[in-house]
Amino acid sequence: MKMNDHLAVKENAPTAKPQKFLHTICCNSCGTVLSKSYSGTESYVRCPKCQADLYYTVDDKGPTIHIIKKPKNLPTPPALAE
Ligand SMILES: [Zn+2]
Repeated sequence: MKMNDHLAVKENAPTAKPQKFLHTICCNSCGTVLSKSYSGTESYVRCPKCQADLYYTVDDKGPTIHIIKKPKNLPTPPALAE
């Protein structure tokens, strides 16, 4: 006598896991992709390309990036003699 048929297989069980989204963090100054972070992240990072120091937070809507220190290697404007 086979009794296998009543074995319930749990599929697509709803999970109570909070949804997290992966956001791409780009340098505010030069646009280089710095990191990929989940919502809820809060971090400091230095851009490897332009050396800007950045602080960013990520929420469900997306990343918010602030420049802490502007990049050093900006072209310096020529000094104008008056
Ligand atoms: Zn940069």
